Amino acid sequence: MILSKKALVTGGAGFLGSHLCRRLLADGYEVTALDNLFTGTKSNIYDLFENRRFSFVLHDVTQPFWGQFDEIYNLACPASPIHYQKNPVETTKSSVLGIMNMLDLALKTKARILHTSTSEIYGDPLVHPQVESYWGNVNTIGIRSCYDEGKRVAETLCADYAREYGVDVRMVRIFNTYGPNMHPKDGRVISNFIMQALQNQDITLFGDGSQTRSFQYCDDLIEAFRRYMSLERPAIDAFIEKHNLGAAVINTGNPGEYTIKQLAEETLRQLPESTSKLVYGPMPKDDPKRRKPDITLAKELLGWEPKVPLQEGLAKTIAYFRTLVK
Ligand code: NAD
Ligand code: UDP
Repeated sequence: MILSKKALVTGGAGFLGSHLCRRLLADGYEVTALDNLFTGTKSNIYDLFENRRFSFVLHDVTQPFWGQFDEIYNLACPASPIHYQKNPVETTKSSVLGIMNMLDLALKTKARILHTSTSEIYGDPLVHPQVESYWGNVNTIGIRSCYDEGKRVAETLCADYAREYGVDVRMVRIFNTYGPNMHPKDGRVISNFIMQALQNQDITLFGDGSQTRSFQYCDDLIEAFRRYMSLERPAIDAFIEKHNLGAAVINTGNPGEYTIKQLAEETLRQLPESTSKLVYGPMPKDDPKRRKPDITLAKELLGWEPKVPLQEGLAKTIAYFRTLVK
């Protein structure tokens, strides 16, 4: 009998975690989703409960966790500004204590671990597009700092557990990613604009809408996760050495760059029946003005690049949100 590989997905009931669990099950894994359901919901994974290779654990990643896994994917952390700012101390704890607990687990069990970092570690970047060697422009005491600095310390811990203890860590700096299973009240721009347009409410642009983001469809990101985790350690170590990276860290995102106003216009173009109007409000503090990933390293290491353009991904996401609006 061939035994399935075992994977642990922290944040498994969230937007990205639910897609990852599905993909790992399709790839033949036995999957444990761990989540405290802060921003995630069981409805994202209800259908998976029928699968005998799937299990769910209600657990807070800030507390130690034990289990024998071949691969750990650490996604547990609120990701939307309105949610991570709701309880900022918990946000930092989720990032820092969460990754420490998962690194300890990986160390004790010799599991491979992937950590989801973020483009937010670049802050309001002064280098454009953002390359992995850029150290960022981050406020340590602002309203976004709980997330940004929590994720930066998490990267430091990953690098040190790899250097000091030889833990097989891989880090991904994720740029804005969207798709089905985002929470309708998640507060991030794509879910907000689609929900507003579907309900004929005002489309809320913060600032003048000229700030930019680069939007990656979820399936492209999950493909990058799987390719990254399938690499053997010597290939990763050679890559770190070749590019003088210091640790296994790569950007993943879709380099297509759009202003937030263009995103609002594209959303309305895809929903011509909507009577929503664009309205402008204050710009949140420390909101990055421009963001776009340089994905040269991910292309080289993973032989990967995103395939789903914004127009196509937006259409799939709109189809999902339609099912939620009566
Ligand atoms: P999400 O909010 O949908 O998912 C996060 C999940 O983690 C939720 O299910 C939540 O309940 C769970 N969680 C939060 N704190 C926890 C804790 N202390 N213990 C256990 N579970 C906890 O967000 P997402 O977009 O799916 O993000 C997943 C990961 O990817 C996050 O770590 C996020 O920082 C990272 N990321 C996402 C994006 C993006 O654009 N989606 C960009 C950069 C980084
Ligand atoms: N944004 C907006 N209207 C909204 C939600 C967000 O104009 O209803 C803007 C926000 O100010 C930011 C961009 O859209 O400039 C992306 O915001 P999001 O919260 O999705 O992600 P992040 O700021 O973390 O990239």
